[in-house]
Amino acid sequence: MELNNLLRENIKNLKPYSSARDEYSGDAMVFLDANENPFNEPYNRYPDPLQRLVKEKIAVLKKVNAENIFLGNGSDEPIDLLIRAFCEPGKDNVVTIDPTYGMYQVAADISGVELRKVSLTEDFQLNINDILGETDKNTKLIFLCSPNNPTGNSLNKDAMLELANQFHGLVIIDEAYIDFAPGKTLMPELEHYPNLVILQTFSKAWGMAGIRLGMAFGSTELIGILNKIKYPYNLNILTQEKAMLLLDKKVTVQKWVKLLIAERDKMEKLLAEFPFVVKVHPSEANFLLVKMHDARGIYNYLVEEGIIVRDRSKVHLCNESLRITIGNSEENESLLSALKKLI
Ligand SMILES: *Cc1c(COP(=O)(O)O)cnc(C)c1O
Repeated sequence: MELNNLLRENIKNLKPYSSARDEYSGDAMVFLDANENPFNEPYNRYPDPLQRLVKEKIAVLKKVNAENIFLGNGSDEPIDLLIRAFCEPGKDNVVTIDPTYGMYQVAADISGVELRKVSLTEDFQLNINDILGETDKNTKLIFLCSPNNPTGNSLNKDAMLELANQFHGLVIIDEAYIDFAPGKTLMPELEHYPNLVILQTFSKAWGMAGIRLGMAFGSTELIGILNKIKYPYNLNILTQEKAMLLLDKKVTVQKWVKLLIAERDKMEKLLAEFPFVVKVHPSEANFLLVKMHDARGIYNYLVEEGIIVRDRSKVHLCNESLRITIGNSEENESLLSALKKLI
């Protein structure tokens, strides 16, 4: 695969914005190059456009080189940038699975790029022939999500890699929930599959949805393209500082994850015992997809009880299903006792 051949012509020819901090990034005694205000340290200074310190820590954590990491304002930023870099509006298309995360569709729609959805099987797995059948010479990207939202299951690893083998474009695996699925990451495969891109985020297991920090991992060339087209200072100083602090608290995060997995497994069993529950789908994420008799009625009842879950009943393959995030044990108990009042 030649990455340059996949790229849009205008992006190939783009001369990126060059900031003061791009032109000079070392140390100095006096900085008079960026029209910053000398007062109000440290927030008077522009942030590091390439977030070098944060990337150094993530590189160690994820066992990759810093030049294989892109950091964005949530995973939503790399999703958008990938579409804008590779897909010519009105001409190119992207393929994804159905059901899955809604942002691939929104990002494609905003860019005027066609998104083709391919149904998962009844057990929420990939049908690679169907997916490849939807691709044509204008298909630039395939978005997969594993563990998948809203189904909660991991996709079959061999099937994902087979797609990466057979498809001429980029295969993007959104691993937002990967910390809840030990051993399932495709990160070790990055070096063997140059067309693989992996997305992860600090919004879920790391408990930092509020600071907006997403990661993309891929070939040095691919990361270079994303860096070329991003906003020069896409991550502010506050986000970078908070990330540095939290990256030192890996042990705390591991504790949270262990606790949430235990709560998930407990909730899976207890929810299955309710007479109105048809099926609790097995989950490797921090939520459960639960099929019920009269999901909408139960959703409305829970709202009255002050408990908000997500009604996914209208989503393909998810009829009569609620998506329930795993909270702390008190929150989960509140949900269970509210549901008990229905029996
Ligand atoms: C929650 C979620 C994300 C996170 O997006 P951020 O922009 O990083 O908060 C990404 N992908 C999927 C599938 C998700 O469910």
